[in-house]
Amino acid sequence: MTDLDTYYYRVEMPKVRQKIAEFKSEMGNWGKCKRISYLYSSLFELDAELFERYTNYKKSSEADNPYIERSLIASHIPEIEKEIGKLEREIAFIVRGSQGPNQGITPEMTHQARDYPIEYLIDVKRGMARCIFHDDHNPSMGIKNNHFHCFGCGEKGDVISLLMKRDGLSFPEAVKFLSGV
Ligand SMILES: [Zn+2]
Repeated sequence: MTDLDTYYYRVEMPKVRQKIAEFKSEMGNWGKCKRISYLYSSLFELDAELFERYTNYKKSSEADNPYIERSLIASHIPEIEKEIGKLEREIAFIVRGSQGPNQGITPEMTHQARDYPIEYLIDVKRGMARCIFHDDHNPSMGIKNNHFHCFGCGEKGDVISLLMKRDGLSFPEAVKFLSGV
């Protein structure tokens, strides 16, 4: 072996291997982030659907509409709730896996965090708030079912994502704060 070969194998190769390892772990994190944001938007859609069904159910009872209407509205509720539970568990599983066992976020914590009243974070009047993500003079952010949706800039999410975006927190940090753990 020439000196150059020796240098290459002893000094350069370990550096290259190190870079590849770093790259792989970054790609892993990126994959997890993508998966979590996907799971999160699915959760948001299901939440909205559940809320819609509960609202319609209530309306139908109040209007004393035929029972068959209410049973149709209610028919998918247990499935939706089951699906929500599954999504919450997968999110908690991914977060726990990337945090180490001691800083784990449990599904119960995520659940508790999502119930934290959004009014404690932003000023809500008659279901509307001034958006904190754009220069909002008239309240253009709708608040419903502990979720926000800005009709001005399009930002939307639940109470966890509101805190993450507002304060620049990670998902586990926001869950810990909101669940009071
Ligand atoms: Zn906005």
